[in-house]
Amino acid sequence: MTATHVKGVAVVADEPAQSPISRPGVNVVFDQIRHLLLADESEWYGCVHCDYVSQNPNSIRPHLKAHKPKPAPEVRKPHKPSGPVGRTGTAPANRSEPATRRRQPSKPAPPPTRDLGSLNLGELVERAQLTEQMRAQRDAARREAADAQALANDWKSRADDWRLRFEGMKARMEKAEGTLSRIRAMVK
Ligand SMILES: [Zn+2]
Repeated sequence: MTATHVKGVAVVADEPAQSPISRPGVNVVFDQIRHLLLADESEWYGCVHCDYVSQNPNSIRPHLKAHKPKPAPEVRKPHKPSGPVGRTGTAPANRSEPATRRRQPSKPAPPPTRDLGSLNLGELVERAQLTEQMRAQRDAARREAADAQALANDWKSRADDWRLRFEGMKARMEKAEGTLSRIRAMVK
């Protein structure tokens, strides 16, 4: 049993000694070496099997050989530090943060596009009737783009928002125009 007193001074905290291989987020502790805090705030290391204590953490390991002959299964008893004297300093991090969660690329499946070649005649005619709307959209976009361009020129401004707006309109215009020409080619 680990010492509860050292030279008459009570052990107020008893926890597994931290291994030097511990690193932030990964707390590695010794199974058989206890880290003891006494009521007088001195720190000791103790054997988990008996009341052997030392202030030198390196002297516990050699001592453990004394308990070697009987390879008892090492059951770590949960041990809560008791007593009114709280430990000073920060407690060792027991929890390791879960590794950064792998981000699932949230790529929405693109809607199934139908090749114009697979359209039947009725559908083609319907598309052809959309041509006028497409043209109107393209013209509207073109006008808006021209306005924006004129405004940008007016102000001699290179304000990003205007440029972006212009790019967006240009893209819309080009898209409308592309669709228009594709439909035209199909209808001919
Ligand atoms: Zn011992």
